[in-house]
Amino acid sequence: ELTANQIAAGEVIERPVSVVKELVENSLDAGAQNILVEIRDGGLTLIRVSDDGVGMSQEDLCLAIKRHATSKLQSIDDLQNLYTLGFRGEALPSITAVARVEIFTREKEAPAGTKLRIEGGDIKEITPAGSPVGTTVSVTDLFYNTPARRKFLRPPGYEGSLIHELLLQLALSHPEINFRLLNQGRDVLNTKGINRLEDLLTHFYGNNVREALIKIEGKASQGHVQGFVTGATYHKVNRSAIHFFINHRRIISRELMKAVEEAYENTLPKGRFPVAVLHINLQPSLIDVNVHPSKLEVRIRDSSFSKDLCLLLKDNLQTNLSL
Ligand code: ADP
Ligand code: MG
Repeated sequence: ELTANQIAAGEVIERPVSVVKELVENSLDAGAQNILVEIRDGGLTLIRVSDDGVGMSQEDLCLAIKRHATSKLQSIDDLQNLYTLGFRGEALPSITAVARVEIFTREKEAPAGTKLRIEGGDIKEITPAGSPVGTTVSVTDLFYNTPARRKFLRPPGYEGSLIHELLLQLALSHPEINFRLLNQGRDVLNTKGINRLEDLLTHFYGNNVREALIKIEGKASQGHVQGFVTGATYHKVNRSAIHFFINHRRIISRELMKAVEEAYENTLPKGRFPVAVLHINLQPSLIDVNVHPSKLEVRIRDSSFSKDLCLLLKDNLQTNLSL
Protein backbone atom coordinates (compact mmCIF):
# COMPACT_ATOMS: atom_id res chain seq x y z
CA GLU A 1 0.00 0.00 0.00
CA LEU A 2 1.28 3.43 -0.95
CA THR A 3 1.56 6.22 1.58
CA ALA A 4 0.38 9.77 0.81
CA ASN A 5 4.01 10.79 0.44
CA GLN A 6 4.67 8.00 -2.04
CA ILE A 7 1.66 9.06 -4.09
CA ALA A 8 2.75 12.70 -4.03
CA ALA A 9 6.24 11.53 -4.91
CA GLY A 10 4.82 10.03 -8.09
CA GLU A 11 3.91 13.50 -9.31
CA VAL A 12 7.12 15.25 -8.39
CA ILE A 13 9.66 12.45 -8.72
CA GLU A 14 9.26 10.53 -11.93
CA ARG A 15 12.83 9.49 -12.47
CA PRO A 16 16.38 10.22 -11.31
CA VAL A 17 16.58 13.51 -13.20
CA SER A 18 13.56 14.79 -11.22
CA VAL A 19 15.48 14.20 -7.98
CA VAL A 20 18.47 16.09 -9.31
CA LYS A 21 16.28 18.97 -10.48
CA GLU A 22 14.58 19.36 -7.11
CA LEU A 23 17.81 19.10 -5.12
CA VAL A 24 19.72 21.53 -7.31
CA GLU A 25 16.83 24.00 -7.25
CA ASN A 26 16.96 23.86 -3.46
CA SER A 27 20.70 24.54 -3.59
CA LEU A 28 20.09 27.54 -5.83
CA ASP A 29 17.34 28.83 -3.54
CA ALA A 30 19.81 28.43 -0.65
CA GLY A 31 22.18 30.87 -2.36
CA ALA A 32 24.83 28.31 -3.28
CA GLN A 33 27.74 29.42 -5.47
CA ASN A 34 29.12 25.92 -6.04
CA ILE A 35 26.95 22.91 -6.70
CA LEU A 36 28.36 19.43 -7.15
CA VAL A 37 26.19 16.60 -8.47
CA GLU A 38 27.43 13.02 -8.33
CA ILE A 39 25.57 10.12 -9.89
CA ARG A 40 26.05 6.38 -10.22
CA ASP A 41 24.14 4.09 -12.54
CA GLY A 42 22.11 6.89 -14.03
CA GLY A 43 21.18 8.06 -10.53
CA LEU A 44 19.57 4.79 -9.54
CA THR A 45 22.14 3.72 -7.01
CA LEU A 46 23.37 7.19 -6.06
CA ILE A 47 22.49 10.85 -6.50
CA ARG A 48 24.44 13.25 -4.30
CA VAL A 49 24.05 17.00 -4.43
CA SER A 50 26.43 19.13 -2.36
CA ASP A 51 26.14 22.87 -2.04
CA ASP A 52 27.73 25.76 -0.18
CA GLY A 53 24.44 27.50 0.47
CA VAL A 54 23.03 28.73 3.77
CA GLY A 55 22.44 25.26 5.23
CA MET A 56 19.81 24.31 7.78
CA SER A 57 19.58 24.10 11.54
CA GLN A 58 18.44 20.78 12.99
CA GLU A 59 15.01 22.34 13.53
CA ASP A 60 14.79 23.56 9.92
CA LEU A 61 15.85 20.15 8.69
CA CYS A 62 13.12 18.39 10.67
CA LEU A 63 10.58 20.76 9.15
CA ALA A 64 12.03 20.44 5.66
CA ILE A 65 11.21 16.74 5.40
CA LYS A 66 7.56 17.32 6.34
CA ARG A 67 5.03 17.77 3.60
CA HIS A 68 4.07 21.33 2.63
CA ALA A 69 6.60 22.77 5.02
CA THR A 70 8.28 25.33 2.82
CA SER A 71 10.34 28.18 4.14
CA LYS A 72 9.70 30.08 0.93
CA LEU A 73 6.04 31.13 0.99
CA GLN A 74 4.54 33.03 3.88
CA SER A 75 1.20 33.67 2.26
CA ILE A 76 -0.67 32.84 -0.89
CA ASP A 77 0.11 36.35 -2.18
CA ASP A 78 3.78 35.41 -2.26
CA LEU A 79 2.98 33.09 -5.17
CA GLN A 80 2.35 36.22 -7.23
CA ASN A 81 5.79 37.52 -6.42
CA LEU A 82 7.87 34.42 -6.48
CA TYR A 83 11.62 34.72 -6.82
CA THR A 84 12.55 31.28 -5.48
CA LEU A 85 12.44 28.13 -7.59
CA GLY A 86 10.73 26.06 -4.90
CA PHE A 87 7.48 26.89 -3.15
CA ARG A 88 5.47 23.70 -2.68
CA GLY A 89 7.40 22.05 0.11
CA GLU A 90 6.94 18.70 -1.59
CA ALA A 91 10.32 17.75 -2.97
CA LEU A 92 12.21 16.58 0.09
CA PRO A 93 9.32 14.61 1.62
CA SER A 94 8.64 13.05 -1.79
CA ILE A 95 12.26 12.03 -2.30
CA THR A 96 12.64 10.66 1.21
CA ALA A 97 9.46 8.60 0.71
CA VAL A 98 10.90 6.64 -2.22
CA ALA A 99 14.60 6.25 -1.41
CA ARG A 100 17.19 6.03 1.32
CA VAL A 101 18.42 9.53 2.04
CA GLU A 102 21.25 10.95 4.09
CA ILE A 103 21.54 14.69 4.68
CA PHE A 104 24.47 16.59 6.17
CA THR A 105 23.91 20.28 6.70
CA ARG A 106 25.38 23.18 8.63
CA GLU A 107 24.58 26.87 8.91
CA LYS A 108 27.40 29.38 8.75
CA GLU A 109 27.58 30.43 12.38
CA ALA A 110 26.61 27.06 13.84
CA PRO A 111 29.22 25.22 15.91
CA ALA A 112 28.20 21.86 14.46
CA GLY A 113 26.07 20.49 11.70
CA THR A 114 23.35 17.88 11.60
CA LYS A 115 23.19 14.45 10.06
CA LEU A 116 19.87 12.89 9.14
CA ARG A 117 19.28 9.41 7.82
CA ILE A 118 15.80 8.59 6.56
CA GLU A 119 14.54 5.57 4.62
CA GLY A 120 11.17 5.34 2.93
CA GLY A 121 10.03 8.26 5.06
CA ASP A 122 11.15 6.74 8.40
CA ILE A 123 13.77 8.71 10.30
CA LYS A 124 16.55 6.28 11.26
CA GLU A 125 19.02 8.70 12.74
CA ILE A 126 19.32 12.40 13.49
CA THR A 127 22.41 13.63 15.30
CA PRO A 128 24.80 16.55 15.50
CA ALA A 129 27.65 15.90 13.11
CA GLY A 130 30.57 17.59 11.47
CA SER A 131 29.69 19.12 8.13
CA PRO A 132 31.00 21.87 5.92
CA VAL A 133 28.76 24.95 5.69
CA GLY A 134 25.98 24.13 3.26
CA THR A 135 24.05 20.99 2.53
CA THR A 136 24.79 17.58 1.07
CA VAL A 137 21.92 15.28 0.20
CA SER A 138 22.70 11.68 -0.78
CA VAL A 139 19.91 9.66 -2.32
CA THR A 140 20.54 5.94 -2.71
CA ASP A 141 18.41 3.10 -4.02
CA LEU A 142 15.83 5.34 -5.63
CA PHE A 143 12.39 3.66 -5.89
CA TYR A 144 13.60 0.68 -3.83
CA ASN A 145 10.16 0.51 -2.24
CA THR A 146 8.08 1.40 -5.33
CA PRO A 147 8.95 -1.28 -7.90
CA ALA A 148 6.22 -0.04 -10.27
CA ARG A 149 8.09 3.26 -10.64
CA ARG A 150 11.36 1.47 -11.13
CA LYS A 151 9.91 -0.50 -14.02
CA PHE A 152 9.26 2.69 -16.02
CA LEU A 153 12.89 3.72 -16.02
CA ARG A 154 15.11 3.48 -19.07
CA PRO A 155 18.67 2.12 -19.01
CA PRO A 156 21.16 3.94 -16.72
CA GLY A 157 23.00 5.46 -19.68
CA TYR A 158 19.81 7.17 -20.81
CA GLU A 159 18.78 8.32 -17.33
CA GLY A 160 22.31 9.70 -16.91
CA SER A 161 22.08 11.59 -20.19
CA LEU A 162 18.89 13.31 -18.99
CA ILE A 163 20.78 14.45 -15.90
CA HIS A 164 23.65 15.72 -18.02
CA GLU A 165 21.21 17.70 -20.18
CA LEU A 166 19.55 19.13 -17.07
CA LEU A 167 22.88 20.32 -15.67
CA LEU A 168 23.68 21.98 -18.98
CA GLN A 169 20.36 23.83 -18.84
CA LEU A 170 20.87 24.79 -15.22
CA ALA A 171 24.31 26.15 -16.06
CA LEU A 172 22.86 28.21 -18.90
CA SER A 173 20.07 29.51 -16.68
CA HIS A 174 22.50 30.50 -13.89
CA PRO A 175 25.79 31.35 -15.62
CA GLU A 176 27.33 32.83 -12.46
CA ILE A 177 27.01 29.57 -10.49
CA ASN A 178 29.63 26.81 -10.70
CA PHE A 179 28.10 23.48 -11.58
CA ARG A 180 29.98 20.21 -11.66
CA LEU A 181 28.67 16.79 -12.60
CA LEU A 182 30.50 13.56 -11.80
CA ASN A 183 29.10 10.49 -13.52
CA GLN A 184 30.60 7.23 -12.25
CA GLY A 185 33.39 9.33 -10.77
CA ARG A 186 34.18 10.99 -14.10
CA ASP A 187 33.98 14.76 -14.57
CA VAL A 188 31.45 15.20 -17.35
CA LEU A 189 30.54 18.85 -16.80
CA ASN A 190 32.35 21.58 -14.92
CA THR A 191 31.63 25.29 -15.30
CA LYS A 192 34.00 26.57 -12.64
CA GLY A 193 35.54 29.81 -13.88
CA ILE A 194 33.20 30.00 -16.88
CA ASN A 195 30.66 32.54 -15.80
CA ARG A 196 29.60 34.42 -18.90
CA LEU A 197 26.82 33.08 -21.05
CA GLU A 198 28.85 33.39 -24.25
CA ASP A 199 31.73 31.44 -22.71
CA LEU A 200 29.40 28.73 -21.50
CA LEU A 201 27.93 28.39 -24.97
CA THR A 202 31.41 28.03 -26.44
CA HIS A 203 32.32 25.54 -23.73
CA PHE A 204 29.25 23.40 -24.41
CA TYR A 205 28.86 23.73 -28.16
CA GLY A 206 32.38 24.42 -29.42
CA ASN A 207 34.50 27.18 -30.92
CA ASN A 208 32.48 27.37 -34.13
CA VAL A 209 29.64 28.68 -32.03
CA ARG A 210 31.69 31.50 -30.56
CA GLU A 211 32.33 33.00 -33.98
CA ALA A 212 28.66 32.88 -34.88
CA LEU A 213 27.27 34.35 -31.65
CA ILE A 214 25.04 37.38 -31.82
CA LYS A 215 24.01 39.25 -28.71
CA ILE A 216 20.31 39.77 -28.20
CA GLU A 217 18.90 42.50 -26.02
CA GLY A 218 15.35 43.83 -26.05
CA LYS A 219 12.98 45.68 -23.77
CA ALA A 220 9.22 45.50 -23.60
CA SER A 221 6.96 47.50 -21.35
CA GLN A 222 6.81 44.79 -18.72
CA GLY A 223 9.86 42.75 -19.38
CA HIS A 224 13.19 42.26 -20.93
CA VAL A 225 14.83 39.68 -23.23
CA GLN A 226 18.54 39.01 -23.44
CA GLY A 227 20.87 36.30 -24.52
CA PHE A 228 22.81 34.95 -27.45
CA VAL A 229 21.92 33.23 -30.70
CA THR A 230 23.99 31.95 -33.57
CA GLY A 231 23.72 33.60 -36.99
CA ALA A 232 23.75 32.22 -40.50
CA THR A 233 27.19 30.65 -40.31
CA TYR A 234 26.22 28.02 -37.79
CA HIS A 235 23.32 25.63 -37.61
CA LYS A 236 22.14 22.40 -36.13
CA VAL A 237 19.80 19.77 -37.51
CA ASN A 238 17.51 19.89 -34.48
CA ARG A 239 16.10 22.25 -31.88
CA SER A 240 18.06 20.78 -28.97
CA ALA A 241 20.24 23.86 -28.51
CA ILE A 242 17.39 26.36 -28.32
CA HIS A 243 16.77 27.23 -24.69
CA PHE A 244 14.28 29.62 -23.12
CA PHE A 245 14.33 30.74 -19.53
CA ILE A 246 11.80 32.93 -17.79
CA ASN A 247 13.13 34.38 -14.54
CA HIS A 248 15.80 31.65 -14.54
CA ARG A 249 13.27 28.86 -14.93
CA ARG A 250 13.54 26.80 -18.05
CA ILE A 251 10.35 26.85 -20.03
CA ILE A 252 9.12 24.85 -22.96
CA SER A 253 7.08 27.16 -25.13
CA ARG A 254 5.70 26.43 -28.55
CA GLU A 255 4.94 30.09 -29.09
CA LEU A 256 8.46 31.26 -28.36
CA MET A 257 9.91 28.42 -30.46
CA LYS A 258 7.69 29.47 -33.35
CA ALA A 259 8.83 33.09 -32.99
CA VAL A 260 12.46 31.98 -33.23
CA GLU A 261 11.84 29.75 -36.22
CA GLU A 262 9.98 32.52 -38.05
CA ALA A 263 12.79 34.95 -37.36
CA TYR A 264 15.26 32.57 -39.04
CA GLU A 265 13.08 31.94 -42.08
CA ASN A 266 15.32 33.95 -44.40
CA THR A 267 18.55 33.18 -42.61
CA LEU A 268 18.73 29.41 -42.28
CA PRO A 269 17.68 26.66 -44.68
CA LYS A 270 14.52 24.73 -43.81
CA GLY A 271 15.12 22.11 -41.15
CA ARG A 272 18.16 23.91 -39.72
CA PHE A 273 18.18 25.52 -36.31
CA PRO A 274 20.39 27.90 -34.35
CA VAL A 275 21.95 27.66 -30.95
CA ALA A 276 19.93 30.09 -28.87
CA VAL A 277 19.80 30.93 -25.20
CA LEU A 278 17.20 33.53 -24.39
CA HIS A 279 16.63 34.83 -20.92
CA ILE A 280 13.32 36.52 -20.43
CA ASN A 281 12.84 38.52 -17.27
CA LEU A 282 9.36 39.49 -16.25
CA GLN A 283 7.58 40.66 -13.16
CA PRO A 284 6.88 37.40 -11.30
CA SER A 285 3.19 38.37 -11.20
CA LEU A 286 3.04 38.05 -14.99
CA ILE A 287 3.83 34.36 -14.99
CA ASP A 288 2.06 31.37 -13.59
CA VAL A 289 4.40 28.72 -12.23
CA ASN A 290 1.66 26.81 -10.52
CA VAL A 291 0.67 24.72 -13.51
CA HIS A 292 2.34 21.40 -12.80
CA PRO A 293 4.07 19.86 -9.76
CA SER A 294 7.32 19.45 -11.64
CA LYS A 295 7.15 23.16 -12.57
CA LEU A 296 8.36 22.45 -16.09
CA GLU A 297 5.50 24.45 -17.37
CA VAL A 298 5.45 28.14 -16.77
CA ARG A 299 2.68 30.13 -18.39
CA ILE A 300 2.52 33.76 -19.18
CA ARG A 301 -0.73 34.83 -17.58
CA ASP A 302 -1.80 37.36 -20.15
CA SER A 303 -2.01 35.98 -23.67
CA SER A 304 -1.77 39.40 -25.32
CA PHE A 305 1.42 40.08 -23.39
CA SER A 306 2.67 36.69 -24.49
CA LYS A 307 2.03 37.70 -28.13
CA ASP A 308 3.87 41.00 -27.56
CA LEU A 309 6.79 39.11 -26.19
CA CYS A 310 6.94 36.79 -29.20
CA LEU A 311 6.84 39.78 -31.53
CA LEU A 312 9.56 41.55 -29.59
CA LEU A 313 11.71 38.44 -29.77
CA LYS A 314 11.11 37.92 -33.46
CA ASP A 315 11.77 41.59 -34.35
CA ASN A 316 14.89 41.69 -32.26
CA LEU A 317 16.22 38.49 -33.81
CA GLN A 318 15.44 39.61 -37.34
CA THR A 319 17.12 42.98 -36.83
CA ASN A 320 20.21 41.39 -35.36
CA LEU A 321 20.39 38.61 -37.94
CA SER A 322 20.33 41.05 -40.83
CA LEU A 323 23.06 43.32 -39.40
P1 ADP B 1 10.45 23.95 -1.34
O1 ADP B 1 11.73 24.06 -2.11
O2 ADP B 1 9.25 23.95 -2.25
O3 ADP B 1 10.34 24.92 -0.21
P2 ADP B 1 11.46 21.34 -0.57
O4 ADP B 1 10.79 20.11 -0.10
O5 ADP B 1 12.24 21.25 -1.83
O6 ADP B 1 10.39 22.49 -0.67
O7 ADP B 1 12.43 21.84 0.57
C1 ADP B 1 11.85 22.09 1.86
C2 ADP B 1 12.62 23.14 2.62
O8 ADP B 1 13.90 22.62 2.98
C3 ADP B 1 12.95 24.40 1.84
O9 ADP B 1 11.88 25.34 1.92
C4 ADP B 1 14.22 24.90 2.51
O10 ADP B 1 13.88 25.67 3.65
C5 ADP B 1 14.89 23.63 3.00
N1 ADP B 1 15.98 23.18 2.13
C6 ADP B 1 15.91 22.16 1.22
N2 ADP B 1 17.09 21.99 0.58
C7 ADP B 1 17.95 22.92 1.09
C8 ADP B 1 19.33 23.26 0.84
N3 ADP B 1 20.06 22.61 -0.08
N4 ADP B 1 19.86 24.27 1.57
C9 ADP B 1 19.13 24.93 2.51
N5 ADP B 1 17.83 24.66 2.78
C10 ADP B 1 17.23 23.67 2.09
MG1 MG C 1 12.46 22.68 -3.43
